[in-house]
Amino acid sequence: MGTMEDLRVTECTQCPKLVDCRSRIVNGTGPEDADVLFVGEGPGAREDEQGEPFVGRSGSVLDDQLRIAGLDRETIRITNCVRCRPPENRDPTTEELENCRGYLETEIERLDPEVIVTLGKVPSEHLLDRSVAVTKEAGTVEDVRIRGSPYRLLICVHPAATLYDRSQEETFAETIERAADLAGADGSEGGQTRLDGF
Ligand code: URA
Repeated sequence: MGTMEDLRVTECTQCPKLVDCRSRIVNGTGPEDADVLFVGEGPGAREDEQGEPFVGRSGSVLDDQLRIAGLDRETIRITNCVRCRPPENRDPTTEELENCRGYLETEIERLDPEVIVTLGKVPSEHLLDRSVAVTKEAGTVEDVRIRGSPYRLLICVHPAATLYDRSQEETFAETIERAADLAGADGSEGGQTRLDGF
């Protein structure tokens, strides 16, 4: 295991192929007491460059929808199943997911979020430990136990899916709205609801 201080993994050499590919380890960002934790698959090229999850095109899709749902990016936490960029953006292997799992579990345990939102197939299957048909199951909430504690998990399509398939946009938007509801966010000022003004 590498070392983990303040939820940051600062050195880890468990996955040789990822160690070769990465420029840096990409840790989760956002407050350590956030109500919502978004979990992606793993860093892409931009994330590897900048050292932050979801800063590329998927990140701007996510940011736009967070804003619409009244969930400020500054108030939520975002992390990934694996913290190092896989070569050619391939999916992380089962072994790589397992190697990184302890870091993710520690992050979840420390945060104790109201809801964990899994962005795409890889994080959904990793945390639910079953196969998931993400487009069909998006928007559904399940209870999951991690290190013995129960959490609510909301299945979501990956933001990039909306770029390849426009019909996913609505599913994505509705799921992020649901995340905001579960977190108790209403994005309003002066007691108005989020829908005011529409
Ligand atoms: N896709 C992911 O799954 N994670 C990121 O950090 C960026 C894109």
